[in-house]
Amino acid sequence: MKALLKFYNKNMLDFTVYRSAIFFEKEVLNFTKKLLHGENTYGTFTYGGTESIMLAVLSARNYFWKQRGKNVVPEVLAPFTIHPSFAKAAHYLGMKIRHFDIDEKLKADVESLKESVSDKTALIAVSAPNWPFGTIDPVREIADVAVDEGTPLHVDACLGGFILPFFEKLGERVELFDFRVDGVTSISADLHKYGYTPKGASTVLFRSAELKKESMFVDVQNPGYVFVNPAVLSSRSVGPLASAFAVVKFLGEEGYLRLSKSVLEAREAILKGLKPLGFKSVAPVESPILSLFNSDVDLLSFTLAMRGMGWHFHLQREVEKYSIPMNIHLTLSPIHRETAGEFVADAGKVAEKSRVKRSLAEILPVESILEDLTSGRIDSSIAPLLVDMFDPKTVEEFVKDIVIKLYGD
Ligand SMILES: *Cc1c(COP(=O)(O)O)cnc(C)c1O
Repeated sequence: MKALLKFYNKNMLDFTVYRSAIFFEKEVLNFTKKLLHGENTYGTFTYGGTESIMLAVLSARNYFWKQRGKNVVPEVLAPFTIHPSFAKAAHYLGMKIRHFDIDEKLKADVESLKESVSDKTALIAVSAPNWPFGTIDPVREIADVAVDEGTPLHVDACLGGFILPFFEKLGERVELFDFRVDGVTSISADLHKYGYTPKGASTVLFRSAELKKESMFVDVQNPGYVFVNPAVLSSRSVGPLASAFAVVKFLGEEGYLRLSKSVLEAREAILKGLKPLGFKSVAPVESPILSLFNSDVDLLSFTLAMRGMGWHFHLQREVEKYSIPMNIHLTLSPIHRETAGEFVADAGKVAEKSRVKRSLAEILPVESILEDLTSGRIDSSIAPLLVDMFDPKTVEEFVKDIVIKLYGD
């Protein structure tokens, strides 16, 4: 906090002026590189995972253009479970996103990738782990395909970058996902998630200087100044970087190990406590994310009742194509080691009262959904279910209307 405030009014724009910003960035990136076994990679500090991903996609697009010319629309190829920021990046950068299938373990399906890859593929992207189910994609097998095709491969470790390496050190079986895998050309890892730093802090690492250069924007011809932007934003407060530096130095490897251990203990306590209530994981458990289903409990009533008791998690909809039942999504953090007992006890009480199946329409009359969401009577925890009530386009418009309304029209 002190570091955040102290450097809040300093600007990262001109690194020839604020050299301390370069020092902070190098230190934070060096820590990240070591964790991800990319000592010789080239990194950029960004304000968030979405920005890191934007830069990786931009780099791949420019690289693709250089190799193959500008007359095809380049594509990002990623499994169904990939974070929506890849679709956003493609949308901003005039590219297309194509999703391929996941297998029965809810991981990227390598056969489906092989069928989907084409001469339009500018980037293959997978996750370690993905947000919805917390599974780690089979990065080694994916990388073999990427190398064969000569396509860059991005691993989205926004969620896992600062925790999976410690799970591995603690003896957990963690699928290799970092620069130890040949063929991985870039990785994003968020500091403001399991790096425990204040919001506005993420990193992206590129295997080569060439790829990092493709992510930069430089303009030397404007009459004002030599415009050199390694990130999406231009003027940026040094605050988030300085506080990230402070947290990384304060915690160090030891601190991260201790916190990761707490997360593992929380995970075990919650899984053990919820099992007798009938909750089961929809996928192999291999990260700090749990996605649980329970065919004896109406998860909609359960989620709303738990929310009423102060527990926040969200519902994920059923996906028939991959036989995924409706499930609840829990993001575990070290504090949950302390609260796991209470959570399980409350879940027990609430599950007992949530045996009767109710539909979303019954709980949330369509006429008042907008009112209920804007007034705060309900929150986004159940929003994914709206897609089942209407078609996606309608929901997209509806969500935009809610945002307009929230800010007052
Ligand atoms: C959080 C997250 C991101 C990026 O999110 P930001 O909110 O922009 O930091 C990307 N991928 C995954 C898997 C994530 O969990």
